Amino acid sequence: MTSFIPYNQDSDFSIHNIPFGVALLDESFTAAVTRIGDTVIDLATLCDAGYFDEFELPDNVFDAFTLNHFIDLGKAITVPLREKIQQLLQEGSELHQDTELQEEIFYDYDDVIMLMPVHVPNYTDFYSSIEHATNVGKMFRDPENALLPNWKHIPVGYHGRASSIVVSGYPITRPNGQTMPEGADAPVFGPTKRLDFELEMGFVVNSNTDMGKAISTREAEEYIFGMVLFNDWSARDIQKWEYVPLGPFLAKNFASTISPWIVTLEALSPYRVAGPKQDPEVLPYLQYTGDRNFDINLEVYIVDQEGNENLVSESNFKYMYWNMSQQLAHHTVNGCNVEAGDIYASGTISGEKDNSFGSMLELTWGGKKPLKMKDGTERKFIEDGDVVILKGFCEKDGVRVGFGEASAMVIANE
Ligand code: MN
Repeated sequence: MTSFIPYNQDSDFSIHNIPFGVALLDESFTAAVTRIGDTVIDLATLCDAGYFDEFELPDNVFDAFTLNHFIDLGKAITVPLREKIQQLLQEGSELHQDTELQEEIFYDYDDVIMLMPVHVPNYTDFYSSIEHATNVGKMFRDPENALLPNWKHIPVGYHGRASSIVVSGYPITRPNGQTMPEGADAPVFGPTKRLDFELEMGFVVNSNTDMGKAISTREAEEYIFGMVLFNDWSARDIQKWEYVPLGPFLAKNFASTISPWIVTLEALSPYRVAGPKQDPEVLPYLQYTGDRNFDINLEVYIVDQEGNENLVSESNFKYMYWNMSQQLAHHTVNGCNVEAGDIYASGTISGEKDNSFGSMLELTWGGKKPLKMKDGTERKFIEDGDVVILKGFCEKDGVRVGFGEASAMVIANE
């Protein structure tokens, strides 16, 4: 497969990817877009030119502020439509000959502003990495019994806050909150001293289901449009004081950053791998067949005050103990309905090695082992002015499909 749009071998946005996003174009209108290399392609104008006439698309489905109406069409439309776009962007296609239209719909990535790709009605955060749950259990509770008794039986999760999910580039204000300092006998109020990232991935659901409907592990992937990088910003000192008995609240709900491109499950399918063996055996409604994990390389960088990119973590989505099908099956087994645009995040994705942990909490072991930056400073947690960047990509047999990045600067709370 060769595109007539040139791109570097190491681009996340090869002809094999064809992700979806929403962009502000010419500083005047928004449209659904895809991307090859550093070329962003306006799907609304491509649609108006008649290239998608074989599909029964609602009016203005790409001429929109979000992808919700598009992804809500379901895989019967979105899968062949993505394949059509992929075919149009190959050498020798009808669009290849149509140079006049190309001039109208091709934009340089640096000239567009990427927006939130979806309106997110609901957001849930899981806790599905056994390495992360074990590390946090050791630090917050009991080093001997780090995993709680339910953890290997239930994909543990909590309902997060959808209103504060923002797209890459949106600055994050250090949150204020209530904490209980070590050794103190009364809580204090002020900006968090332990601001952290969480390296996660989220999946976007493509349908509204009825209350009472459970989605089985067998059908779960039919409901998953695609995935994004997801930074679940966390304030560890606020979390430690507030989380018992009902779990995370203000330590988590102030912000989450997502990547602007939704990479479809179909683009990720060549990178399927088996998940870790689940022992003890899970209940029947959580059992599944086939490879449901995905080999996605993940990286976290901290950009220090001199502008150096410091690689602080290298992890992989394939480490997840619970897969997305199990998460969705569990979430709906009681009849809870889902909505198109919902995001379900994985929980922090840590590997076994010290440099594969997905949060500063784990990388510095609660602040005890600071990380050295290239500018000579140290980090226990994230400081004002730091930029945190998540990156993710799949690579096999020279074919690369990636997510670009989810990046945000932390700014002081004045
Ligand atoms: Mn999280």
